[in-house]
Amino acid sequence: MEPPRTPDFDPPRTTCPVCASTALRDWDHDAHGRRIARCGGCGVKFMNPQYSDAWLAHFYSTYISVHGEGDVTRWRSRPEVREEAKRRSLRLLATHVTPGRILMIGCGDGLELRIARELGWQPEGYDVEPATTAEVERTIGVRVHSGTFPPATLAPGSFDAVFMDQVIEHPKDPAIYLRTAHAMLRAEGGLFLGLPNVGSLANRAKTLLGRLGLRARSRGKHYATKHHVFYYEPKVMRRLLTEQFGFDVVAVSGSLKPDEHPWKQPLAQRFPILDSSFLIVARKRARPPGQRADSSATRAPSSSKACRSSGSKETDTAAPGASGA
Ligand SMILES: [Zn+2]
Repeated sequence: MEPPRTPDFDPPRTTCPVCASTALRDWDHDAHGRRIARCGGCGVKFMNPQYSDAWLAHFYSTYISVHGEGDVTRWRSRPEVREEAKRRSLRLLATHVTPGRILMIGCGDGLELRIARELGWQPEGYDVEPATTAEVERTIGVRVHSGTFPPATLAPGSFDAVFMDQVIEHPKDPAIYLRTAHAMLRAEGGLFLGLPNVGSLANRAKTLLGRLGLRARSRGKHYATKHHVFYYEPKVMRRLLTEQFGFDVVAVSGSLKPDEHPWKQPLAQRFPILDSSFLIVARKRARPPGQRADSSATRAPSSSKACRSSGSKETDTAAPGASGA
């Protein structure tokens, strides 16, 4: 079948793909007419209607990596900046989980597999496109799974850590990725997530200016709807991990990438709202018998309590007025 040449879309969703709530409302749109919904149940935002599977398959067949290496003239896309950011992220994870077997989902060009191995982890990768993953496997010498997610070749309960850096804003069903991460981890294993922060101060300002009609041509550019279909902020992801996916959050931080402005990174690490990305480290919870990790009806102790009881350093800073924004 001939792939579509312009984006086409599913019928609009009437339930949240993450928590199944029907309390969806129109939140915003961008200059290309892509509409963003907000779920009243869990707070996540997502493109609605979503791209069709045929369009996404076509789009990702030519997408070299999920890490956005594209324009290397941009500071944050420069190889040495990406490399240092991966190194810092893996070191953050290693402050909570002793390096061992790590599954790196969305490993793209394999840079993160190489850095992980340098830092004493035993990495395995996953990415969608078989030709690219075969090439990465050959050049880096690390096993890389591919094809439909989750691949049957993964062994449940066998990983000390799962790493997804700038990954779950791309798929139409991020819940499958979080459930798979949970299933692949051993008890108390560590999950690392790096995500764009739709709730950053700069992005809130852009949303507001768009609504006021002051950014007509660039309205909603911060959603990056060309390839991002889910939009997260720290408090929403923390709640999802804790209440729906069977994790205890042990660290929330602004991103750890080097910046042109040396003052910015330490500040953003402390106050994630200042950064366009954020990082979360969570631990797979040992669940009481009969409690399901994937049920929205499952209610866990509040995340702040879980964090205190974990004894880990908590770096998240609550954003004033963050609720519902
Ligand atoms: Zn929801």
